[in-house]
Amino acid sequence: MSTKYEREDDRPLAPGLYLVATPIGNLEDITLRALRVLRSVDRIACEDTRQTQKLLNHFEIRTPTVSYHMHNEGTRTEELTSELKQGARIAVVSDAGTPGIADPGGQITAAAIATGIDVFPIPGANAAISGLIASGLPTDQFVFHGFLPAKAGQRKTALEELARGDVTHVFYEAPHRILDTLADVEAVLGAGQHVVIARELTKLHEEFLRGAAGEIRSHLAARASVRGEIVVMLAPSAVEASSEKRASLAVEVAALMKSDGINEMDALKRIARERGIGKSEAYRELQREQNRLR
Ligand code: SAM
Repeated sequence: MSTKYEREDDRPLAPGLYLVATPIGNLEDITLRALRVLRSVDRIACEDTRQTQKLLNHFEIRTPTVSYHMHNEGTRTEELTSELKQGARIAVVSDAGTPGIADPGGQITAAAIATGIDVFPIPGANAAISGLIASGLPTDQFVFHGFLPAKAGQRKTALEELARGDVTHVFYEAPHRILDTLADVEAVLGAGQHVVIARELTKLHEEFLRGAAGEIRSHLAARASVRGEIVVMLAPSAVEASSEKRASLAVEVAALMKSDGINEMDALKRIARERGIGKSEAYRELQREQNRLR
């Protein structure tokens, strides 16, 4: 299948609703099309007008804004839909990332569609997809859950109800809850559950932590505080099983070095022979395991 790219469109913007993704940290992640749409629409409906104004000022965009957030979504949807019916061009943006994804946007989209108004997605940054593609976890099947419940009991129930198997699970989490959430993951899915934490994506202090839930929790708990925005991902059970196998390689190497008084390389060669795998494959496996927590 070939991808057909189209040149930048210089025709006036068609009437309709434009769902415009904005950066999740790095301002360079705004697209050329998003800028053109934000410049050309009649109004921009913003989750927080002050927050969006900073973005608009940076790009010298003078389009009027109006608030559209979870507390006025219903009434604003009615107002904006009646403007759209008269041929207005309206953009919806959230504070960061893709509108409608754990953010306002869904209600006005449904109302516009029900009224026969055109809805245009203007794709761009999204924290879940950015975290997932760099997680190292399978991306062929995944489930996005938004935020886990804030209350401990409900969070545990939500984790218990996860359909395990071959899918990667993706969550958003607040920094002040991450240690409790990891403790719940350990309690419900086991301390060995393979977890990936993506923190401060696209920003200066972007960080990925990959490893067993218990190890990651101790690693984060040792910090004075955990800050920033976080995506949590849980590996499918198959990956968990293979990471357990990797862990046992390091444990076996250490045990052999101790019992037989040999060095790491000799221990690794012997284990590789016993497992019927090549020396270099065993070495790479050991390194991967050691790197998981760096
Ligand atoms: N609509 C947004 C999107 O497309 O990703 C998500 C909005 S949701 C209210 C905010 C949550 O997304 C944060 O609490 C965090 O879990 C996640 N998030 C947003 N920006 C992030 C970033 N730069 N790094 C990691 N997670 C981020």
